[in-house]
Amino acid sequence: MYNIAKTILAAEKVLKRIKETKGNISFPINPFELLKDIGAIITYSNFDKLEGLLLYDKKKSVVAINMNRQITRQRFTAAHELGHILMHTQVHSNNFLCPISGIKNDIEKEADSFASNLLMPTEELNKQVDMYQDKDGKVGMDECLLIAEYFGVSFEACVKTICFRLKRFEKDLDNVELTKEIKKYRPTTKRKELFESTTDLNLLMNAVDYSYFSIVNLNEIIGIRFIQNLVYHDSRIEKVNVTKEEVNGIFADLRIHGSESEYCKSENQNIIEALGNIEMNQYCIETKEELDIFKIKDLNKMLYKYAPYPEYAGMYRNSDNMILGGKIQPVPYTEIIDKMNELNKVIQSVKENIDKYSISEYVSIVAGIHYNMTILHPFNDGNGRITRGLTNWLLRLKKLCPIYIDSDNRDEYLEALQKIDQDGNTELLQTIIIKSMMKVMAELHESW
Ligand SMILES: [Zn+2]
Repeated sequence: MYNIAKTILAAEKVLKRIKETKGNISFPINPFELLKDIGAIITYSNFDKLEGLLLYDKKKSVVAINMNRQITRQRFTAAHELGHILMHTQVHSNNFLCPISGIKNDIEKEADSFASNLLMPTEELNKQVDMYQDKDGKVGMDECLLIAEYFGVSFEACVKTICFRLKRFEKDLDNVELTKEIKKYRPTTKRKELFESTTDLNLLMNAVDYSYFSIVNLNEIIGIRFIQNLVYHDSRIEKVNVTKEEVNGIFADLRIHGSESEYCKSENQNIIEALGNIEMNQYCIETKEELDIFKIKDLNKMLYKYAPYPEYAGMYRNSDNMILGGKIQPVPYTEIIDKMNELNKVIQSVKENIDKYSISEYVSIVAGIHYNMTILHPFNDGNGRITRGLTNWLLRLKKLCPIYIDSDNRDEYLEALQKIDQDGNTELLQTIIIKSMMKVMAELHESW
């Protein structure tokens, strides 16, 4: 039987413990931190019909979260899995498959109720509604938008909780009617109007800091598939037109025949560049050499190793470049070496302090270096691919998975770079890096 009182009690117990250990409770609650506190490993999966999955073990449970969902929904799922661990694992099962939709059994309902009461405790929710209430003590959609932001929950979850748990929504509607009203309100658009930043970066940062990431081993099938994906998408971002089959063919042939591969003699520019890109990325993901910024020269050489004039590879540009529409322009070519020395100091200091940074801090540093490379623009060609290769090298130093930008998201990526050109704001780029990390982790255990 669905026991709501039990779920409220369990959530209150967790909140009480947060208060005892931290002195106070601040919102939004971080369910990822709570899961990690009890020894769970959090990772991501490309689920179709599941929000999440829990493999319970007394010492090391594994929680997999649907990487396709919004961060607010992912937070709810993390809290939901915590609910299973605290309320259900003793009696019911060791494994929980938590569906996106359909009729939910009592166990699922209880975990949902736990999550809702943990992320939006009634007392605090009432306080928030008090702040915005009308003369009848109720709130409408606009107010709910603000309250959802405060708790780090989805707009829909917030409205429904205020409506059904608190009975303080301005209209008296049933679930079906309310769902329709919410759609009509267009919360995503409204939210963009109301808030300057809607990337949810803070919530994403809270998640990755307690999530599990791993490096990629290129000797494993899964690693090979990763690099094939990477080179395919990375090439297409630069409008190097290769198909997935071509990349896979080149990669396989290169592994068997090395530089004797027929592809290496190709006169097709796209093939030649894909070849170089494979070698460069393999190097960035595997090399044990010490990273300094001047290694980008080697990266450029690898990238253009099979190009018609390889002797020009690895040479810095000797003229000034313009980025169309950018407020910030690449540095004059005469300053490239000076600026690289500056950037190298940054990289060396980051390496020395690498263990001190949280994952999210590190991602913001990597995004910053990405930005500096964009301004440097040291070569005539290949800067984008080299910068992304360098990004993966940096991520690996912190034992984080490498990433690639899906070519379907090319516009979003270019927009992020443009935003940096305009005002130095790396938020969008950080968001893209974090989401890519989640996606890659999902791909690394696709067999789930
Ligand atoms: Zn569940």
